[in-house]
Amino acid sequence: MVAEIICVGTEILLGNIVNTNGAYLARACAGLGLSNFYQVTVGDNEERLSESIKTALSRADIIILSGGLGPTEDDLTKETAAKVCGKSLYLDEESKESIIAYFKKKGKEPTENNIKQAMIPEGAVILKNNNGTAPGVIIPYENKHIVLLPGPPIEMIPMFEESVVPYLRKLLPGVIVSQTVKVCSVGESLLETKIKDLIDSQTNPTIATYAKTGEVHVRVTAQAATESEANKLIKPVVNELKLRFGNNIYTTDENVTLEQAVVDLLEASELRISTVESCTGGMVASRLINVAGVSDIFKCGFVTYSNKAKRKLAGVKKSTIEKYTAVSEQTAKEMVSGPELGPKADVIVAVTGYAGPADTETEPKGLVYIACNVCGQIKVKEYHFSGSRQKIRESATTEALVLVRECVLDYFSEKTFG
Ligand code: ATP
Ligand code: MG
Repeated sequence: MVAEIICVGTEILLGNIVNTNGAYLARACAGLGLSNFYQVTVGDNEERLSESIKTALSRADIIILSGGLGPTEDDLTKETAAKVCGKSLYLDEESKESIIAYFKKKGKEPTENNIKQAMIPEGAVILKNNNGTAPGVIIPYENKHIVLLPGPPIEMIPMFEESVVPYLRKLLPGVIVSQTVKVCSVGESLLETKIKDLIDSQTNPTIATYAKTGEVHVRVTAQAATESEANKLIKPVVNELKLRFGNNIYTTDENVTLEQAVVDLLEASELRISTVESCTGGMVASRLINVAGVSDIFKCGFVTYSNKAKRKLAGVKKSTIEKYTAVSEQTAKEMVSGPELGPKADVIVAVTGYAGPADTETEPKGLVYIACNVCGQIKVKEYHFSGSRQKIRESATTEALVLVRECVLDYFSEKTFG
């Protein structure tokens, strides 16, 4: 089945907002096994929108529109779609009551315009909006389906997941199931080379790789009559990936982030962590604190941006900085060795580097040292990141988490085998 996405909004055409709905809907369609050959962006203009819907109807089975369901003059998606299908609009009492209740909760009265949002095309399926006022609708039309969703992602995404996915699943033969294998410490091109034979030989499940900052996600997707049949197809491929990437796989659960995996590992190992950060300015601590319940294992986060702070807070020797500079293997090593930090935490991770934007002989942009100390066992690594200041800092943050994971695993494997 073929889907076409139409994002409505002059703001998108002007570049005032980024079309994240288009990207989300494209990914969601792919996940459902729908083919998507065209994505259209059109302004808030009845004639051109009408033209876009007619064109989409000529080449797709499911047309998904986002935007223009609001109460104002320029919001005309529903009226235009209804007109194309030759349907009239009626006032849906239940939707009207929901809109009134939504405003009442906020201590406000809806205007006449807001009530306009309860006008529904004849024969349409109404999609409840739990995060705003405009209900979405699905207009069945000549064996095709036109899905109208509100523009704000905070309203559009839950509506899509709660109401549109179940509707579309009923139209589709069988089910599509995906599992994501998250790999760190292996670059995308190396990873692809290592699984090229799997990618080339598999059609069901399919294998796709997605490069993220400092990690690669491998998505295994199977199509089958039932969920358990799809899972049976996925399992051997995931097992093969586990064999090939071993400890570099930090999770096979879509919902587990790298920081969650690191915190889980520290908790399971009963190790407490402190961070000492220079160029990342607290980003490593912040990523760890993204995880609820981290207080059990997170001791302290130091931002030692100045040399003085590196000396006073982390105990780096003045002579070390003078001899090797603040961005050096030696400084990074001392940042995780400070007597002030040692007794308080079992694991200390430190980051020091040049994030740019300037790139000079004395400060080569992107040069970063990350050190990790696990119960006295210290590892320091040198990195050369590229991109903007922000990108370099994000890459360093991810690699710091990856290094913590690596060092903790090393520590235990050496304790067991060494
Ligand atoms: P509203 O009731 O807020 O007017 P609406 O359904 O009429 O909702 P629009 O007026 O088209 O939607 O857009 C409202 C806001 O939603 C935009 O200002 C923008 O912040 C967000 N938005 C709309 N379309 C997109 C999109 N394609 N990608 C990301 N955000 C979007
Ligand atoms: Mg609007």
